[in-house]
Amino acid sequence: MTDVTSQGLHVLTKPIGPICNLDCEYCFYLHKDQLYGGGERWRMSDETLEAYLRQTVEAQPDMVDEITFAWQGGEPTLMGVEFYERAVELQRKLVPANKRIQNTIQTNGVLLDDRWCEFLRANRFLVGLSIDGPAELHDRYRRDKQGRPTFEAVLRGLKLLEKHGVEYNLLIAVNRHNGDHGRRVYTYLRDNGAHFVQFIPIVERRAVGTNPVSSRSVQPEQFGDFLIEVFDEWIHRDVGRVYVQIIEEAVRAWLGLEPALCLFRRQCGRAIVLEHNGDLYSCDHFVDPNYKLGNIHDRPIIELANGDGQVRFGQDKEAALPEYCRQCDVRFVCNGECPKNRFIKTPDGDTSLNYLCAGYRKFFRHVDPTMRMIVDEIKQGRQAANVMHRLNAERRAKKKQVPYVSGPPGRNDPCPCGSGKKYKKCCMRR
Ligand code: SF4
Ligand code: SF4
Repeated sequence: MTDVTSQGLHVLTKPIGPICNLDCEYCFYLHKDQLYGGGERWRMSDETLEAYLRQTVEAQPDMVDEITFAWQGGEPTLMGVEFYERAVELQRKLVPANKRIQNTIQTNGVLLDDRWCEFLRANRFLVGLSIDGPAELHDRYRRDKQGRPTFEAVLRGLKLLEKHGVEYNLLIAVNRHNGDHGRRVYTYLRDNGAHFVQFIPIVERRAVGTNPVSSRSVQPEQFGDFLIEVFDEWIHRDVGRVYVQIIEEAVRAWLGLEPALCLFRRQCGRAIVLEHNGDLYSCDHFVDPNYKLGNIHDRPIIELANGDGQVRFGQDKEAALPEYCRQCDVRFVCNGECPKNRFIKTPDGDTSLNYLCAGYRKFFRHVDPTMRMIVDEIKQGRQAANVMHRLNAERRAKKKQVPYVSGPPGRNDPCPCGSGKKYKKCCMRR
């Protein structure tokens, strides 16, 4: 069993709690404004900021050579750039010279301006920007407090990040509305300059009614098909150029490496959440009184994170894995994903199967042959992109071999390139 206490600790910090300038319909954190009752002043004090930074530095094992400070919300830019200027100044005093400092900030991008971007660039922040695709897909759920669309403001923020050379990731919430458009979402963002993308499935559990999830939630197979469309585009054009988080996770798993993402680890529990007032919780998806570990003004982060309750929280992920998952051919990469999504029945009636199971199975099985090729290249010390060149060469050769016997294929005929797709969904499009 993995000794989780020897792993680096990742604290996701909410300096402004759930307060946000937008009102995205599927946001799970907006409702945390009920956590402390009304009248709460949702701003991290300088005292809590210093305690957090100092304790995070002290909590890292010696072998960790980079300390990450992750800022999230709500909308963390609402704290103002001055708050982060103080944070960076303090980090320089507290972090030992032999360790690197990395700051990440997740934002909706609406408040970004030249001053913000100059600061982010100067201090090498990695920005996670939320965008769900082109306007007609993005604006379905991502609206402001007056219900107005936000796409234009987000795109302006994205262009500012690029103008100032700020490093950024795009975070795409995959939901029922954009879930049928994997290729379209991916190519749109790639063609607008994205080099790093993460896809986050929206799963809103519903306790009442026959449907276990909300109407906004992505459907399991829909999610799998979305990822497959992305993968099929990536493998023919973007290997080595675009970093797609779940594909990188797959490569790691096929190489036999530990997942970087808690979702796919056998155990979790090392990604904890700090609220604005110093309260520490087990995980971003478990910010509620039952999972409160304590307050960092009473006990240091390292003690709270290594306490029995939190260690058990992380181990439970593996212990509670249903037998169905244990027998699964893609368990080595999936590991039952996140416990928060484990609420449907397995065929034998066990109640803790992941809602997204069918999608993950479909996706990971789809990528298996290509992953084997990629891993082979990497193990031989060669570039993964060789696989892309080889597959494209094979595709071109197949195209040449298949003459049109009686004119070009019909829209619904199998594509002559041999992809197995309908002509209208393959070469006819291109
Ligand atoms: S794909 Fe499904 S059965 Fe397999 S490990 Fe993941 S959740 Fe379990
Ligand atoms: S509960 Fe889910 S999101 Fe939280 S640490 Fe575990 S795997 Fe990660």
